[in-house]
Amino acid sequence: MPAADILPDALDALHATFGFTAFRGVQEEVVARVLAGQSTLAVMPTGAGKSLTYQLPAVMQQGTCVVVSPLIALMHDQLRSASANGIRAATLTSADTDRELTIDRFRDGDLDLLYVAPERASQPHFRELLSRARIALFAIDEAHCVSEWGHDFRPDYRLLRPLLDAFPDVPRLALTATADHHTRADILAQLGIPEDGLIVAGFDRPNIRYAIRPRENAMRQLKALLDENPGPGIVYAPTRARVEQLAETLSAGGRRVLPYHAGLSPEVRARNQAAFVASEDMVMVATVAFGMGIDKPDVRFVAHAGIPKSIEAYYQETGRAGRDGDPSVAVMFWGADDFARARMRLAEVEQHRQQSERQRLDALAGLVETAACRRAVLLRHFGEEPAPTCGNCDNCLEAPGVADATQLAQKLLSAVYRTGQSYGIGHLEKVLSGVADDRVLQRGHDQLSVFGIMTEDEKPLLRPVSRALQARGSLLPTEHGGLALGGDARAILKGEASVPIVVPPRSERKRRGGRDSGANPVGDPLFDALRTLRRDLAQEAGVPPYVIFHDSTLREMAAARPSSLAELGEIGGVGTRKLEAYGSAFLAAIRQF
Ligand SMILES: [Zn+2]
Repeated sequence: MPAADILPDALDALHATFGFTAFRGVQEEVVARVLAGQSTLAVMPTGAGKSLTYQLPAVMQQGTCVVVSPLIALMHDQLRSASANGIRAATLTSADTDRELTIDRFRDGDLDLLYVAPERASQPHFRELLSRARIALFAIDEAHCVSEWGHDFRPDYRLLRPLLDAFPDVPRLALTATADHHTRADILAQLGIPEDGLIVAGFDRPNIRYAIRPRENAMRQLKALLDENPGPGIVYAPTRARVEQLAETLSAGGRRVLPYHAGLSPEVRARNQAAFVASEDMVMVATVAFGMGIDKPDVRFVAHAGIPKSIEAYYQETGRAGRDGDPSVAVMFWGADDFARARMRLAEVEQHRQQSERQRLDALAGLVETAACRRAVLLRHFGEEPAPTCGNCDNCLEAPGVADATQLAQKLLSAVYRTGQSYGIGHLEKVLSGVADDRVLQRGHDQLSVFGIMTEDEKPLLRPVSRALQARGSLLPTEHGGLALGGDARAILKGEASVPIVVPPRSERKRRGGRDSGANPVGDPLFDALRTLRRDLAQEAGVPPYVIFHDSTLREMAAARPSSLAELGEIGGVGTRKLEAYGSAFLAAIRQF
C-alpha cells in the first residue's frame, strides 16, 4: 500500500490514541514504512517519540506487536504509559506474576503490545508460543545492543535473528537513540533489515540549553542551579563518595534530594528511583549507573559535577532532560583535575585502546574549551552539518572572551620545566609571581629566570591557562600531584602552536532568579489547580503524574479553558481513553475558575 493511502487512517488513530494532530519529525516516515510491511531501522534521538512508531501501528493492525526491550524497568514504564492511552499491552518478564494470564490474552488476540526481554524471546518455547497467535510486527528497542560496535553490546540480542527469520512475513522495526555509522551497518546486517530501511533523525535536541562552566565552588554553583530550576533534575557526580556528599549537602536546602549509586542496596536504589520517577520536583544525585531505563519525560535539568567520559556519554546523559519537549537545561561544571585524572587513567587502558580513548578525551576537551556554539560542536561530532550558532547555549547567549594566551602558556610551561616537572600549580604560581616563600627559597627557585616573570595583567589568567593546557593534554599530572610537560608542550614553547583560551563571562549572578528556562506559567492559579488534580489522580492510580498528562497538555488546558468534553478532546495529548478517564474531573476543575 502506498504511504498516501495509509496516512489518513494513521492520523485518525494518532488523534484517537495519543491526542496529537500531527506527527513529529521522522515519525511519519517510520510509521508509513511499518504499515507498508517494510523492515526498518530508525535512529531517533531520545525525546523524538520512538515508541509511538511501533505503538501506533500496533493499535491499527490485526495481531500483536512483539517488543524486545533490554530492561524490565523500561518495559514496565512503557507498559504504564501505553495502558494509560488505552493500548492493550502486557509484559512477559520474570518480575511479572500474571504470566499465565498474559499468555492467554496473547493467544486470544487480546494484546496490541507484548513486551519481552531478549533472553526470553530467543528461547524455543517462546517461538512456539508466537506461532500460535497472529504477529503484526517485531519491534527491537535499544537495537544498538545487537552490535559489538555499539556502546552496550548484549549477547542475547544476537540470538534474536533465528526468531525473526522464523516469521519471514512479519516486518521488523529496530530502534535506537545512538548509533554511529559502524553500528548502524551492523544492526542492519545482524537483524536482516535492508539498507534502504535506514531512517536517521537529526541528533539535535533544540529544547535543551547547554552550558559548560569551570567549577569554582561546586556546591554553591549546584545550589544556584537548583534554585533556578524547580522541576525534577539529575546531578551526575564521578564517585559514590561524592554522590553521598552532594546529596546530603544539597538536601539541606529543603528540596528532596536522594542519592543513587551501585554501592546502595538494590532495595534502596529501587525506592529512590521510584520516588524520582513519581516526583515533580525531586533531585537525584547519581553516578552514571543511574539513567538507563528511566523514561521520565519531565526532567528539567541534568548537571554534571565533573566531566563525563566522552561526548557520546555527555549527549546520552544530558539527553535525559526534556524528553517532553519543554525547555530544559544541561550544565557541566568542569575542573582541570577532571582532565588530569582522566589522562592518568589512560595509562591503565590496554595499549590498543589508548589512541581512541585519547581522541575521545581530546574531543571532549574541544567541547569544553570552545568559545563557539556548543550545539554545533556536538552535532558536528555526530556527523551533522549544523548552523554555526543555535541561540540556546551559553556561548551563543553570551559570547565568552577569547584571549591569545600563548605567551603566558610559554611562561608556565617553562616554569614547569625549570622546576623539574614535579610541582603543582600553587607553587608554580608563586614562582611566576615572584613570591619567595620558604619552599621557593629552599629549592632555589627564586634564582630561576622564570621567577617573577608574570605581569600583573597575566595573573588572573594563569589558572584558566593551566586549565586549558591540562584539558588539551599539554600539561600532564604526575603521580604526586605535580605537573609535567606533555602533548604539544614543546611546540608551544618553540612558538609553533598557539594557546587561545576562553574567558567565561562574569555574569552568573545576573541570570539568577530569571527562571527563563521553564515553560510553565508561574503563579497561574488555574494551572496550579490542574497540577494538583493531576497529582491526586496519579496517586490514586499509582502512576507518575506525567502518565496522566504532560505539563504541555495542562498548559494548553489552562490557556484554552475548554468547557465541554468535545473541546477538551481537541487539546494536544488528550486521546479517547484519557478523555473518558479524566475528562470530567478536569472540566470540573476548569469550571471553578
Ligand atoms: Zn549555541
